[in-house]
Amino acid sequence: MRKITPLLLAILLFEMCSTVPISGRKRVNFVSDSKVLPASFAQYNTFLAAHTISKNSSKTKQLKDIGNKIAAAVDRFMRANNMVKEAETYQWDFNLVEDKTVNAWCLPGGKVVFYTGILPICKNEDGIAAVMGHEVAHAFAKHGQERMSQGQLQQVGGMALALGTSSEPKQTQAIWNTAFGIGSGLGMLKFSRVHEQEADRLGLIFMIMAGFDGKEAAEVWVRMSQQNTPGKKGLAILSTHPTNTSRIKDLQAYLPTANKLAAQFNNGKR
Ligand SMILES: [Zn+2]
Repeated sequence: MRKITPLLLAILLFEMCSTVPISGRKRVNFVSDSKVLPASFAQYNTFLAAHTISKNSSKTKQLKDIGNKIAAAVDRFMRANNMVKEAETYQWDFNLVEDKTVNAWCLPGGKVVFYTGILPICKNEDGIAAVMGHEVAHAFAKHGQERMSQGQLQQVGGMALALGTSSEPKQTQAIWNTAFGIGSGLGMLKFSRVHEQEADRLGLIFMIMAGFDGKEAAEVWVRMSQQNTPGKKGLAILSTHPTNTSRIKDLQAYLPTANKLAAQFNNGKR
């Protein structure tokens, strides 16, 4: 085998590094969209087939309307910022499943599921938009792919790359449950604080761009932590999205910046 020269190594590392738009954070991502997205879309369909999609047409319509507005804001941002090709890889879809678990997630490529159990904590349209913005921001910033690329997930990343050829549905399911919090609380992987703060801030910008009240985002996480009393089951979202007072304070402190950036981006500026 040929030796890897320092120059080649430098080129490889450079190739694997990219910058998260808006936040400007450098990330390592060597999981390609062409591998991950088909697996993600297949996983989403498998999940929907195995769960009860809500028959409440008004709540479902509300969720889809909010999701589509936020996806349109993300799309607008990408098209105005030299990300047209990337914008076209997203296949946004929003579904409400009948499940008391307090959870919501977004898979790579824009596949979003809300569980009916999270709606009382969202409380109103702006609250749904806050959670939606946050989850969509994880997909926008490609946090899942980054986690798969990180050392601790080498195995998962390797398996994700092999998903296209894998015929082991149970194993595949387990990988996605762990990486994205699709399951109901066990064996999930926490998003890091860095990813959570980034998704909070980007999500705030996107929800405001879509016309919602950014003040509600901090309120949702206040309600989330109030619900999280010992002995009470069902807050699966907190196993992937740990909450605390610093998170709530950051959302409040970042609000003026988010309002300003949202107005700029809506005017087509960077
Ligand atoms: Zn999160």
